[in-house]
Amino acid sequence: MTRFFRIGALVATTALAGLSGAAMAAPNPFASPSTLALQAPRFDVIHDSDYKPAFLQAMAIQKGEMRRIASNHAAPSFDNTIAAMERSGRMLDRVSLTFYGVYQANTNPTLDKTQSDIAPLLSQHQDSIYLDAKLFKRVETLYNDRAHLDLTPEQAQVLTLYYQQFVHAGAKLSPADQIRLRALNTQISTLETAFQQKLLAATRDGALVVDNKAALAGLDDGSITAFAKNAADRKLPGKWVIPLQNTTQQPDLTDMTDRATREALFKQSWTRAEKGDANDTRATIATLAHARAQKAALFGYPDFASYVLYDQMADTPAAVQHFIAELAPATRTQQDREAARIQETIRKDGQTFTLQPWDWMHYAEQVRKQDYALDENQVKPYFELNTVLRDGVFFAATQLYGITFKQRTDIPVYNPDMMVFEVFDKDGSTLGLMYFDYFKRDNKNGGAWMSNFVGQSRLLGTKPVIYNVANFAKPAAGQPDLISFEDVVTMFHEFGHALHGLFANQTYPMVSGTQVARDFVEFPSQFNEHWALDPTVFAHYARHYKTGAAMPQALVDKIKKAATFNRGYNMGELIAAAQLDMAWHALPASAPQQDVDAFEKAALDKTGLNTALVPTRYRTSYFLHIWSNGYSAGYYAYLWTQMLADDSFAWFREHGGLTRENGQHFRDLILSQGHTQDYGPMFRAFYGKDPDITPMLNHRILGTDPN
Ligand SMILES: [Zn+2]
Repeated sequence: MTRFFRIGALVATTALAGLSGAAMAAPNPFASPSTLALQAPRFDVIHDSDYKPAFLQAMAIQKGEMRRIASNHAAPSFDNTIAAMERSGRMLDRVSLTFYGVYQANTNPTLDKTQSDIAPLLSQHQDSIYLDAKLFKRVETLYNDRAHLDLTPEQAQVLTLYYQQFVHAGAKLSPADQIRLRALNTQISTLETAFQQKLLAATRDGALVVDNKAALAGLDDGSITAFAKNAADRKLPGKWVIPLQNTTQQPDLTDMTDRATREALFKQSWTRAEKGDANDTRATIATLAHARAQKAALFGYPDFASYVLYDQMADTPAAVQHFIAELAPATRTQQDREAARIQETIRKDGQTFTLQPWDWMHYAEQVRKQDYALDENQVKPYFELNTVLRDGVFFAATQLYGITFKQRTDIPVYNPDMMVFEVFDKDGSTLGLMYFDYFKRDNKNGGAWMSNFVGQSRLLGTKPVIYNVANFAKPAAGQPDLISFEDVVTMFHEFGHALHGLFANQTYPMVSGTQVARDFVEFPSQFNEHWALDPTVFAHYARHYKTGAAMPQALVDKIKKAATFNRGYNMGELIAAAQLDMAWHALPASAPQQDVDAFEKAALDKTGLNTALVPTRYRTSYFLHIWSNGYSAGYYAYLWTQMLADDSFAWFREHGGLTRENGQHFRDLILSQGHTQDYGPMFRAFYGKDPDITPMLNHRILGTDPN
């Protein structure tokens, strides 16, 4: 059994469907384990045309394996049922993990076609397993008898998770309720698709049409030319069309000097999906929220948020609400401070108007230039990519965990720009393989992420083979790889995920390494970001690429200060969005369908934030994450893991910072634990108490960090 994660953008798929007869003329490279070190993918022999037949063959194989488990005449045992499911699907693991690694970072028309052909088949997998009554009966028998099975703690956890996943998918419902569930699932997925399609059209149609070039004052020539071309494409010659971004705030507002245009663009964004036309999403949302509440009620949950949070660290909507509410007062104070500073800037600009949300970005940029200016060209010569990787990212890991790295040039890669390292544990034994694919390409998804080509498991005898992917600008030939500080932080972040995968020390794949909840998985990565500015680590990697000189302290101070710019705004728009998400998914099934705007206003008023000046990052009517992207009742997760990361870094500070002893403690109790226990007890075992929000408040809102 497999869950495939792309950490960073969260694409999860699973596999198994009824296909057979995909006759193989020659052995497919995925048919047997790779003979390379640690079963690294055979990029030297894999062809694009190998993936699809491998998927079909692998799904057929796993289908047979699952059928044999379900129809086994022997009484269910942990080994013949749970461990057997964990052992199944080896070929599917190999092809899926390799395919999704390449598809997301180095795609082409053949891989795109493979994805569209395979995705629907893979998505049937979950249903075919989790609604298999015979299989569930075996799992349930074991679960009910678990106290007498003499299981290890990890086995008990794996059994419980299997049982919960079956139950959560509806295995325990009565036949009548299962029929109702299937109908609701169909209705929900139809509404989600309808929402997505309406929003896409509404966003396209919501672009601002400008008649007069003077209205574009402040924008650069490149943007103005692009807007003229948009207009020509839409058969609006002589005009300009400014397309909408997915967020409430629009990047072009920063440079626009014409206030009326700013207001018009902002209002186009805010009302994009509320025009009363065919693309208005409100009726869809009201029905969808109601259908989700009904689904939760089928399972006996009071609301959809409770249904979703059952396997998350936060556990209950009340815990999430409490957490967000604790962030609000300090954020409000900071918002008011920023608003006052901006109003003062407006006055000094000779204006008399009162600040509105469409003015914020424009005048905040002036504040940034006055108070926080950081010249990237001054900074970048101190951040040479290879030096940052070896003397920063690797150095911090060696200081903390004792692990070392050696480049391997003999391991095949899917792109020549990639680097591969073997990672050694403190005793010199091999821990895993680590690939880096850092440079931007046209055929790569945006952003940065981490995942595994091979997952760690003692049951399967596998060690971690992991990759980090990013989108840094590739230098011209012969030029140094100079990157921004933001890129440096990205490297530390993604390597934090990698450490979580490298230190995995589990028997069963289901609970290995980064196979953890959405509101836990960003904890190791956000924690690792902190080492980028640790004085010892920073001094070790931030050296001028030509002279080797350390960065002048004045420049270091500017980097630190720049990171605090506009933080009241940035945190406020996230908190508002998280609150809105939770409010919608706290509706009980008994509640009538809501008036979307009235509901939203009431929910935002309750946040205690200045949501008039700092509007929610996504309004209900265009909140794609929660209505069709799998983040329903989950938008809070990034903030939650910031609390865990910042609090853990505070623990390090209290205990002497960058030491092997501290690193070992964190590795033993967090990084090597996978999902072998619940997250609350895991955190308490590490720290001796529940997570405290104070370090996050200091670090991300108040700006009162100790150093
Ligand atoms: Zn991440």
